[in-house]
Amino acid sequence: MAETRLHCDVLVAGAGPAGIAAAIAARRAGKQVVVVDDNPHPGGQIWRGSMSGAHSTSAAARKWLQRFRASGAELLSSTRIVTAPGANTVLAEHEGNAIHIHYDALVLATGARELLLPFPGWTLPGVMGAGGLQAMAKAGLPLRGKRVVVAGTGPLLLAVAAAFVHEGATVPGVFDQASRENITAFAASLLTRPSLLMQGAGYLATIKSWRYRQGWWPLCVHGEATLQSVVMTNGSDTVEIACDYLACGFHLVPNIELGALLHCRIQNGAIIANEHQQTSVANVFTAGEAAGIAGLPQALVEGEIAGAYAAGAGNQVRHLLRRRTALRKVAARMNHAYRLRPELRALPQADTLICRCEDVSWQQLQGFSGMRSAKIHTRCGMGPCQGRICGAAMQFLAGWEADTHRPPLYPVQLSTLLPLAAHDTTHLEESI
Ligand SMILES: Cc1cc2nc3c(=O)[nH]c(=O)nc-3n(C[C@H](O)[C@H](O)[C@H](O)COP(=O)(O)OP(=O)(O)OC[C@H]3O[C@@H](n4cnc5c(N)ncnc54)[C@H](O)[C@@H]3O)c2cc1C
Repeated sequence: MAETRLHCDVLVAGAGPAGIAAAIAARRAGKQVVVVDDNPHPGGQIWRGSMSGAHSTSAAARKWLQRFRASGAELLSSTRIVTAPGANTVLAEHEGNAIHIHYDALVLATGARELLLPFPGWTLPGVMGAGGLQAMAKAGLPLRGKRVVVAGTGPLLLAVAAAFVHEGATVPGVFDQASRENITAFAASLLTRPSLLMQGAGYLATIKSWRYRQGWWPLCVHGEATLQSVVMTNGSDTVEIACDYLACGFHLVPNIELGALLHCRIQNGAIIANEHQQTSVANVFTAGEAAGIAGLPQALVEGEIAGAYAAGAGNQVRHLLRRRTALRKVAARMNHAYRLRPELRALPQADTLICRCEDVSWQQLQGFSGMRSAKIHTRCGMGPCQGRICGAAMQFLAGWEADTHRPPLYPVQLSTLLPLAAHDTTHLEESI
């Protein structure tokens, strides 16, 4: 297997909106920039597939992706950063080949993933993450004629439900666990940001507003080999809805694993940054959802700030600092409005799988005090997803802190790690 070594002034981890904005800003300052992303095309979660032409694209996505293409930043796509073996160095893997990248400054723009909470039947084929099903639809999964129930929480539900309708699906209902009062109060707080209100109104018009119900959550699903129906509840009433897919996500969880590996300070599940988007580690910056769930506009603004400061050109982005403060207030109100209700902790039954990689049930996890001891005794969190799903779920269900993050962050070829032995045996021992 081939091994490549690169050097750049600014390395950007993640080619979502935050990473794209960071790369453009660093290039504008004249720096040599490399961007690494594990997807075949840039755009991250929201603009995924836009550049491949596989999916209809917003004007904003087109503009940012064109600017990115023209910026001269080097994109390493389908490439995953798997560990950080030495000072200012990461190890990435592309098609089984190792790439060592040495940087002067690093921007962590690793985004977020959905929070998936376990309930009886959640592992049945047909039950998907809301954003996950949207991503599969963007990649070509046909939804025409399919009945898709959307559930969970957050503004993302409306966006994905509207997208499913555009793909030709029938959406019998969109169910948010947040109360009507909380969502109404959040919407009212957006009066100063009419564009966001208009966007929400557009989604509601697409799905038909009476199908959007607040204060409802999934109790269980029915089906033998595949999903047949979902039972929704509001705590007093239940309703069973026949469907082909349940698209279900309980808001987002920042991808902090690479930051944690680099010893960046983490607080409330996000990488901490100062006003220049610098983390607690010298020359390591962060932007977008990795630094806290806040949506697209903030990811772009933070990305520009992080990229400029990483390139030593912070004076070019001082005008953005006030905008970021205003956006942060909106994000704080959003995260408060869509906070998870305690009833969701009662959903798993004894035989409900929590760790689907290693088949560990809710009952098997009883009696443990934290992720580490549960992991040692049950293998919970030791499968291919490395606890990204069950770890976040147990954090909510039982208050368990995430276990320490150890390399490699993803399953890799042994040949990718082996050359490290020549340089640093400790790291390799830690890795395998
Ligand atoms: C599943 C999902 C669907 C979403 N859909 C919508 C939507 O329809 N509408 C909307 O308004 N918002 C949506 N969002 C929210 C939206 O993605 C964010 O607001 C915004 O895109 C954040 O941009 P970002 O650059 O911070 O992160 P992202 O867009 O998540 O980009 C981060 C990128 O980093 C890559 N990455 C992470 N770790 C590594 C690594 N170790 N090596 C290489 N690459 C790595 C990821 O694969 C990803 O491409 C969605 C979020 C998720 C999780």
